[in-house]
Amino acid sequence: MIIKNFKKHYPLKKYGQNFLINKNIIQDIIKIINPKKTQILVEIGPGLAALTKPICQLLEKLIVIEIDLSLLDLLKKRSFYSKLVVFHQNVLNFNFIDLFCKKNQLIRIFGNLPYNISTSLIIFLLKQITVIQDMNFMLQKEVAERLIAIPGNKSYGRLSIICQYYCNVKILLNVIPEYFRPIPKVHSVFINLTPHHISPYFVYDIKILCYITKNAFQNRRKTVRNSLKKFFSERRLIQLDIDPNLRAENISIAQYCRLSNYLYKKLNNS
Ligand code: SAM
Repeated sequence: MIIKNFKKHYPLKKYGQNFLINKNIIQDIIKIINPKKTQILVEIGPGLAALTKPICQLLEKLIVIEIDLSLLDLLKKRSFYSKLVVFHQNVLNFNFIDLFCKKNQLIRIFGNLPYNISTSLIIFLLKQITVIQDMNFMLQKEVAERLIAIPGNKSYGRLSIICQYYCNVKILLNVIPEYFRPIPKVHSVFINLTPHHISPYFVYDIKILCYITKNAFQNRRKTVRNSLKKFFSERRLIQLDIDPNLRAENISIAQYCRLSNYLYKKLNNS
């Protein structure tokens, strides 16, 4: 247990500060990330450096993004500080595309995420996926279940579709609340998201996919005959090989892509 540094900082709930304190789980995470000296790694929320310290020692430089200035002041006093390139800012404003242009190399992102922003953060990162090599995150289990959910599963929704459209998602570790301080109310998992090399899906316009899924899932209980009727007649759904009696949660990603591409062509031919 590494609670020495924990005593120097009062954890802030508003920044989702649940610090990792279990050495074994930290070792497991480092093995999974497997950082290589020449890679560009970015850590979201170094906090008290539970992951930062061991990982920066394996690299020439580690880029860290931290919103809490008091944590950065503590970080400045650590022996490994010179290994870090520090950004004091909200990660939700960080431009990963700019970083990629400067480094001319794909970026690896990791972190024990602040759980209060994890969903919006993943969506934010997916928008910059073209410059990302992979992402390794600690998340609340419930969010990870939504990321990996398949049709028919109660967690299947817009987040599953958009995430699996871009990435292969794997849950790698289950992490109990007692491995953090303060102890969170939820269970956690460590996951890997790797962008597809060859994507199993294709849409002409991702915004149309987002729009259709938004409408479909706005009322999960409705059949797609009703929830999507402003875009597709019942006959058109059948023609596109989609049963109009199904609900949003029973439509596969490939089927949503088919609907999106039909709508795209219709909008662009009219
Ligand atoms: N990496 C440390 C660990 O594993 O013990 C800390 C993880 S803690 C769950 C989340 C970290 O993200 C905190 O250091 C917190 O201050 C930081 N954080 C929270 N919101 C942030 C944001 N919007 N942008 C950047 N960092 C943020």
